Amino acid sequence: LDKRTASMAEIIKESGDFVLSGSKVRLDLEIAEDLWPVDVDVGQMNQVLSNLLLNARQAMPGGGTVRVEARNVVVGSEDQVAVPEGRYVLIRVQDQGVGIKAEYLDRIFDPYFTTKDRGTEKGTGLGLAMVYSIMRRHGGHVTVESEEGKGTVFDLYLPASHKRL
Ligand code: ADP
Ligand code: MG
Repeated sequence: LDKRTASMAEIIKESGDFVLSGSKVRLDLEIAEDLWPVDVDVGQMNQVLSNLLLNARQAMPGGGTVRVEARNVVVGSEDQVAVPEGRYVLIRVQDQGVGIKAEYLDRIFDPYFTTKDRGTEKGTGLGLAMVYSIMRRHGGHVTVESEEGKGTVFDLYLPASHKRL
């Protein structure tokens, strides 16, 4: 783990270009200007974003928009959020794709869980397992909400750095 103090803004833009350029999927970015820095392994965070964006792209074979929002959040004890109290940079990745069956939701982070045809679409089932372990390694959290036929939202919570950029 090679951590340094960085802004997620660059990492989001870079992986967006990498995964979505030349595809039928459009990227709709809303990144807060005063985003707190985070202490991250930049290569690993690129992998996290790339895996989520690739899944979003594959969930919208006919094209569509994936929205990525990044903003500062303070999670308090009264908040109905499944993450501990603290200051976080929240990155929300939202697609309008096929969605995930409710019965699969608690298995998608398991290694080798895939619903994709291994032959044609190269579903290894390792993308989200990697997202999960990288987020945990950074003291972060990932949550998911999805509705079949409507789309999927992944929330990444990364602890804000105490350092300045
Ligand atoms: P893979 O993409 O190789 O199948 P992942 O670990 O990336 O493996 O994802 C596991 C499974 O979770 C996928 O096969 C799919 O069923 C589901 N999934 C993940 N992201 C999305 C998404 N954005 N929209 C719909 N389904 C998704
Ligand atoms: Mg994947």
